[in-house]
Amino acid sequence: MNKNIEQKLLDKNTNPTSMRILVYDFLKQQQIAMSLSEIESHFYKADRVTIYRTLKTFEEKGIVHSIQENNTTKYILCHDECDEKTHKDWHLHFYCKICKQTTCKEDFTIPQNGSQNYRIDEIKLFGKGICENCLKESLQ
Ligand SMILES: [Zn+2]
Ligand SMILES: [Zn+2]
Ligand SMILES: [Zn+2]
Repeated sequence: MNKNIEQKLLDKNTNPTSMRILVYDFLKQQQIAMSLSEIESHFYKADRVTIYRTLKTFEEKGIVHSIQENNTTKYILCHDECDEKTHKDWHLHFYCKICKQTTCKEDFTIPQNGSQNYRIDEIKLFGKGICENCLKESLQ
């Protein structure tokens, strides 16, 4: 299993240190975006700075993308298309007011302009509402 993660990190030009493998493995198991504190609480032996640096490296290498949510930054894994040069996570990030979870909504993407004479490095699309699960529960 760790062999796969090692390979994933190598594919993204990232040296697979044991800390990076652990953080990647943890994020891989999450369906939702996680804040630094949430990630930290799973790694009680590692200090916050190390985890923070790992996440920053991941972000630079196109492994995770971050979501700004009020005053918190949350992290979630990217797809394979992202790399060191560009993130291609051009989809909606959705915050549920009931379960307070943030997820990627990839069926809701930002339309891309055909014009090539400018370069967009970052677009943020953030929505708040009630997620599928909470909505279902509220109807029962
Ligand atoms: Zn990305
Ligand atoms: Zn919800
Ligand atoms: Zn996303």
